[in-house]
Amino acid sequence: MLIYEKFIPLNFTIRTLGLKGNDMAYDLVVKNGMIVDGSGGARYRSDVGVKDGKITKIGRINGETTEQTIDAEGHIVSPGFVDGHTHMDAQLFWDQLGSCSCYHGVTTAVMGNCGFTLAPCRESEADFVFRNLERAEDISRSAMLEGINWDWETYPEYMDAVDKMPKGINYAGYIGHSALRTYVMGERAFEEDANADDMEKMKAAVQEAIHAGAMGFSTSRSPSHLTSDDRAVASRIGTDEEIRDIVMAMGETGAGIFQLAMDRGDIQKMMGTYRSLGELSKKSGRPITFGSLSRKEYPGQWKALYEIIEDENRDGARIWTQVHSREINSILSFETATPFDNWDVWKDFRKLPLDEQLGRLKSDAALKQKLIDVADRPYDGPEIVGAEARPPEWDVFYHIDKIRLPHPSLAQIAKERGITPAAAMVEIAIEEDLKAFFRQPLANENQDDALELMKHPRSTVTFSDSGAHVSQIMDSSLQTHLLSHWVREREAITLEEGVRMITYDTATNWGFHDRGLLREGMTADITIFDADKVEPRMPEVVSDLPSGSRRLKQYADGMLATVVAGEIVLKDNQHTGALPGQLLRGPLARA
Ligand SMILES: [Zn+2]
Repeated sequence: MLIYEKFIPLNFTIRTLGLKGNDMAYDLVVKNGMIVDGSGGARYRSDVGVKDGKITKIGRINGETTEQTIDAEGHIVSPGFVDGHTHMDAQLFWDQLGSCSCYHGVTTAVMGNCGFTLAPCRESEADFVFRNLERAEDISRSAMLEGINWDWETYPEYMDAVDKMPKGINYAGYIGHSALRTYVMGERAFEEDANADDMEKMKAAVQEAIHAGAMGFSTSRSPSHLTSDDRAVASRIGTDEEIRDIVMAMGETGAGIFQLAMDRGDIQKMMGTYRSLGELSKKSGRPITFGSLSRKEYPGQWKALYEIIEDENRDGARIWTQVHSREINSILSFETATPFDNWDVWKDFRKLPLDEQLGRLKSDAALKQKLIDVADRPYDGPEIVGAEARPPEWDVFYHIDKIRLPHPSLAQIAKERGITPAAAMVEIAIEEDLKAFFRQPLANENQDDALELMKHPRSTVTFSDSGAHVSQIMDSSLQTHLLSHWVREREAITLEEGVRMITYDTATNWGFHDRGLLREGMTADITIFDADKVEPRMPEVVSDLPSGSRRLKQYADGMLATVVAGEIVLKDNQHTGALPGQLLRGPLARA
């Protein structure tokens, strides 16, 4: 089926008439698609005409000249997806395209979440940034060292650097508290309270960033976020008062969103935290956003906390949460990490090259048995944080045997095979030449809760963490999972609702008012997909980071084309070479 073509004969005719290409009525026409416009309204069949990066016509387009045409027959034409929670800050310097978000229809990614940014920071002190980032977000230090050409100090200078980079998709970013704190306080940022002078400097830097177009200010209070030397990341050393004062200073500019990686704890503690965030939003006049996940350690807690959000919002606060379309999974494999890599026997075994590991498992029955015996033992080591592989709970330790759910648990497979769960894991790994994937849900374990969370009007479906946890999780596919699993297979959400969640809702909350809807006059960020086929593919392990380090990669089926500012960036998952992505600046810096 011909789905994309350049109208060379037409071009030729126009040129022979002495007209230039830009005299065409359109740069791009998307023909014959079903429009799901992002508003949640019912789909309809129409063409879309694009000129100079904007949608200039929605309606039947016949006989008018166009530079390019996409035939979207049988496909859904929707606004490009907007992801409000990524960590692409470092990656965009070595990956122009914006993988893996771009493969899942995302055209705009908000980065700098959770306090982790590359600015403000002097190049000579880049180690502070790496220390904050490399473990908490699993971004390789060697990749950052090799892949980043550091030519900034302040956050506005960083934005200029991003602006200049050729980009496949659009980016916007917060100024991050951990970077800010180490910039102002140096080594003291990991140990001390900020003094009055530190506070003045931090507040001024945030105001300067907001004026230059930062999306807001981000921080982390999450116990998951540690440095490689087992300390809390710098933002977590800051007191609540420090954060409050910085957000209040941001409020004086009249712009900016406050984003935080949320603390955890019992309901009393968390209710207090939510209440004080409501207070802060009301006092500062700034919106506040953070992740909300159902957690098996705290059943039902999320629900009680949404009541506080409703309460505070009724009272003048503006709080919205960020939710996921499934569990957050630590993805495991012999090619990346297993839970046992630091355990007895495993520790030495895992240092071998992968093909040797496979060889030994096949030829050395005694060693294989030792590994299994160790893995079957209860764990008594230190607590595991973040998205790192953790000791298995075999009932909820799954083999990803295919992309579609359900996945069998190792407990279940072990029973069927009449062996222990650890033996089952090792056997499956050998059967798949050590390329087998397993997953351990870290949060949002209950899928009924996950659905209810997505449907809550205070939620936005956005939590890919793209660019971070590159060898640990692969959630860039949360949008295609929403469309394949919840919309098509479960029929729990209509296609129109599902598209709205990842376009209009996210674009509106983050203030991208010319995106997230298909309307004449809006920026032509467009995602075209087959609603019957859209689905994430199986993840894979690749070694394509600048230093050769490994990461997980995931494509999707059913994605026909991704258009950014009127230019086709991806067609059938292939990069066309176009890099039309922009740095999206906040309201104070818009022309
Ligand atoms: Zn994050």
